[in-house]
Amino acid sequence: MRLAICPGSFDPVTYGHLDIIERASRAFDRVVVAVFTNPQKTPLFSVEERVEMLRQAIAHLPNVEVDASSGLLSDYALHRGAGVIVKGLRAISDFEAEFQMARMNKKLAPGVETLFMMTANEYSYLSSSLVKEVARFGGCVAQLVPEAVAARLKEKYPQPPSGGR
Ligand code: ADP
Repeated sequence: MRLAICPGSFDPVTYGHLDIIERASRAFDRVVVAVFTNPQKTPLFSVEERVEMLRQAIAHLPNVEVDASSGLLSDYALHRGAGVIVKGLRAISDFEAEFQMARMNKKLAPGVETLFMMTANEYSYLSSSLVKEVARFGGCVAQLVPEAVAARLKEKYPQPPSGGR
């Protein structure tokens, strides 16, 4: 069985992530979407909230599951018996950090390959941070994230009644 891991912080999950997850689910027998704690980022949503939003968003994909981990991705991949880590690439600017991480993971777990999928054109500008910025100032995120995620963003960033200052 070919098992792949789609790791990330998913704070929150966007249509860009879901595009990569769906494509991975067609290329592999089983996919584990793993929510990782990134010590360099202060998340808006708790790990539990992020896992819950992801579970709702991938409910239509029978061979995909969602899990969480706070350790090293390479250890997690070995522990799950995954041969492949799937990551999305949006722009050249993603490349350097991804290249470093892929090299490091290869060093730590030589049997695990990192594969990159090019983002879909329509999501190449999309990131969780940008979605949060738009939501924080009351912008519409309906085209960027699933409905349930948009609703949770509204709860996190309540907007003053329009017209009021
Ligand atoms: P972000 O960079 O938005 O905080 P994550 O750390 O959650 O994202 O990223 C998880 C994975 O999803 C990474 O491999 C990242 O490159 C990929 N990804 C994020 N947004 C997109 C997108 N719009 N298109 C393709 N891949 C994406």
